[in-house]
Amino acid sequence: MSRLVAVSNRVADPSGGKSSGGLAVGLLAALNQKGGLWFGWGGKTRGGAPSAPKIVKKGKIEYATIDLYESDYDDYYNGYSNICLWPLCHYMLGFFRYERRFKDAYRRVNALFARKLLPLLKDDDVIWVHDYHLIPLAAELRAAGVSQPMGFFLHVPFPNIDVLRTLPGYRDLLRSLTAYDVVGFQTPNDARNFTEGLARENLLQAKLGHDRFRSGGREIVVSAFPIGVDVDGICQAAERALSSATVSRTVKGLADRELILGVDRLDYSKGLPERFRAFEELLARYPDTRRRLVYMQFAPPTRTGVRAYQDIREELEQSAGHINGRFAEPDWVPIRYLNRGFSRNMLMGLMRSAQIGLVTPLRDGMNLVAKEYVAAQDPKSPGVLVLSRLAGAAAELDAAILVNPYDVEGMAEAIQQAANMPSPERRERYQAMIEVLRKNDIDVWRTRFVETLESFQ
Ligand code: ADP
Repeated sequence: MSRLVAVSNRVADPSGGKSSGGLAVGLLAALNQKGGLWFGWGGKTRGGAPSAPKIVKKGKIEYATIDLYESDYDDYYNGYSNICLWPLCHYMLGFFRYERRFKDAYRRVNALFARKLLPLLKDDDVIWVHDYHLIPLAAELRAAGVSQPMGFFLHVPFPNIDVLRTLPGYRDLLRSLTAYDVVGFQTPNDARNFTEGLARENLLQAKLGHDRFRSGGREIVVSAFPIGVDVDGICQAAERALSSATVSRTVKGLADRELILGVDRLDYSKGLPERFRAFEELLARYPDTRRRLVYMQFAPPTRTGVRAYQDIREELEQSAGHINGRFAEPDWVPIRYLNRGFSRNMLMGLMRSAQIGLVTPLRDGMNLVAKEYVAAQDPKSPGVLVLSRLAGAAAELDAAILVNPYDVEGMAEAIQQAANMPSPERRERYQAMIEVLRKNDIDVWRTRFVETLESFQ
């Protein structure tokens, strides 16, 4: 049996700390099942040359982490990854900014990842690289003589070629993806954007089958592998968490009011200002919702080194204060805005307690919170998911109430519809969604990807 080597910018905290982010949560669940090596940056920078990887074994997973040069970190991580690629992939060009030194640092860090990973590789490994920070890694490894199967999975959306062309050097980036044997995306639409991009740049020589192509003189698989969740694990954790002190105290504190829950990293792509405005619109337009609903939003800050992330934090604090100032009563605060991470178990318990799950990103590769919210529900009395059409999850969860996240009035109407939905309709929508989630859970995601990769051995 082959060994799975997963590579991502960051690895999850081996000591089991809180990880907020779809990649860390999804990959940890996948590796916990199959075991293997997880290679990535350990979160530390240093002035001098990075040393050998630090290796820690925990359960079935061996974690190998490296440090980065202090001088590279900012331009590679904040710069190229999060000021160039992130807004580009999310079609949010207002946040896009390019500098040549960003690209140089990105290349240097990918080359460093390849150099440090190389001595750890074994002949029967299959290598699975994750996300936009590490697109050129396979090309670097191939140049160093690595012939093991290599796959790439993009957790974020893949943009249309006309948008990708905004990026200087986009063609090299596109071509470097063809050094992988398997290139996986969240949705068929993303996979199509990629192959169309290759075709329009004359980088595609032939279509060999449904998802097989010839590019760069090699045969590659390009397909959608929508990431799933551990449905039963979440459902059980959510049920158990209901009796935990924090969750039961929180529910008691609601005093029979209905809970609307939002759980996101604090990121401008998550549509939080629009969501806050939609809640304000709801309270203004439907006075019967006042005192009846409480909106709780979790949003731990991330990427605090990027200016846009500091700005959105300020904007949301002001917006929450404004709405509470406008509508609060002595015994009712409409928005509870919590700016930090929480334990997964507690979040799952709150998801189960929430009558409405509000997931309205302006664009998202998948959005695991949408799937977690559905998985956490009580099948006898499930809550309602209000979901952005622009999240990858909407391709599978079309039984949610789908909204346009830019349409503030439309979202207010959707919340009103959710708050008044009769239980037979809630159960019907839940049944349709939970079936989809079971058919494509985290196990299926990992197995399908790794088996496709192993077919190249
Ligand atoms: P992204 O990868 O862009 O952050 P996803 O919705 O795909 O978005 O994944 C987010 C993951 O992080 C989910 O598993 C979610 O439960 C978790 N998460 C989000 N916010 C928090 C928080 N405040 N505390 C702990 N975990 C969180």
